[in-house]
Amino acid sequence: MKNIKTLFFLCSIGISSLACAQEKFNYPGKSKQKVEATDKITYTTTRTYPVQEIASKSKAKRPKNIIVMISDGTGTSQFFTAIAANNNQAYIEQMPITGFSKTASKNKFTTDSAAGGSAIATGHKSNNGEIGLDENGQPAKTLLEMCDEQGKSTGLIATSSITHATPASFIAHQPSRKMNDEIAADFMKTDIDVFIGGGKKHFGDRKDGKDLLNELDKKGYKIAYTIDEVTATTNGKLAGLLADNAMPPYTERGDVLPNAANTAVKLLNQNKEGFFLMVEGSQVDWGGHNNNTELLITEMQDFDYTLGEMLKFAEKDGETLIVVTADHETGGFSVNGGDPAKNTLVTSYTSTHHTATMVPVFAYGPGAEEFSGIYENTEIAKKIMKLMKLK
Ligand code: MG
Ligand code: ZN
Repeated sequence: MKNIKTLFFLCSIGISSLACAQEKFNYPGKSKQKVEATDKITYTTTRTYPVQEIASKSKAKRPKNIIVMISDGTGTSQFFTAIAANNNQAYIEQMPITGFSKTASKNKFTTDSAAGGSAIATGHKSNNGEIGLDENGQPAKTLLEMCDEQGKSTGLIATSSITHATPASFIAHQPSRKMNDEIAADFMKTDIDVFIGGGKKHFGDRKDGKDLLNELDKKGYKIAYTIDEVTATTNGKLAGLLADNAMPPYTERGDVLPNAANTAVKLLNQNKEGFFLMVEGSQVDWGGHNNNTELLITEMQDFDYTLGEMLKFAEKDGETLIVVTADHETGGFSVNGGDPAKNTLVTSYTSTHHTATMVPVFAYGPGAEEFSGIYENTEIAKKIMKLMKLK
């Protein structure tokens, strides 16, 4: 009796809930498992921004335009930091519909960004590491390619290399995410109108000696090497290659992502048939892998602020569906406490890798209600295909 009381006391004050669970159930033959968690990290944001209310009623029945926003490696707790670190308000809260996506790949319970991105891009489950392939390892048509065939304009934006797994999944078909040069060459096979990210070296300094920058130029793209050159573009096709590989973190690059996304929308929206745009916040994942809360939160806020810009456009436009999700969670990240009045959060991690947990899906605009519920990550593409009559 005394032991039970002590156990209850320990559990109730949260000294070691794992030990409690093990002792309580006393699984036969189970060795005591020790879970290593990163020591709690306290972080106070220095950035806050006002959040404007967005009307959630849209006039159209079907979306003409689709903006898919992927925050890499972002679970519920990561999304919550955007709110909790910004005076208890964020643009993610302006999304009227929420659901959850189950992220397992074809061969692994815990996905990587290649299989995760490909599932969202194509509606097919592939093996980890594969880019734009289906269950049989064959090229699977992506939402970007379907929209292009339908006469819509198309665009991709990332803060990683534009050939990195997530953006690559929407435009390339390769057996390995590591084939960055081959992925860059796949950009040439499409009619993509706007792409902005890092990864210049995979176009201009390649193993095969081909100069894809020259090819882009011949195809009529304006090639921009700085964000100012990107935002100065008012029409035509645009290739923004703003770093050799990945872009620097938000604390160094500043508002590149929202400025790139606004420019892309300005260019793509000139097509009366509509457009497809994928915007990736690539580096929340890297905050998770590195158990770096400052990186995680600054990148999360950058993504949320960019979502705000997209929502302001969609509210005015009335025919744009915005779907926000993640490919998987990274870090087993949690918000353990803090002082929201001071935008201070106490955070912790259970992993430096991806985790298998489901991730949220948020939707705004015509057809948004389709995204309520819990479903496989492949359903996201299928729902978009149905709403936009893509095949
Ligand atoms: Mg990514
Ligand atoms: Zn990752």
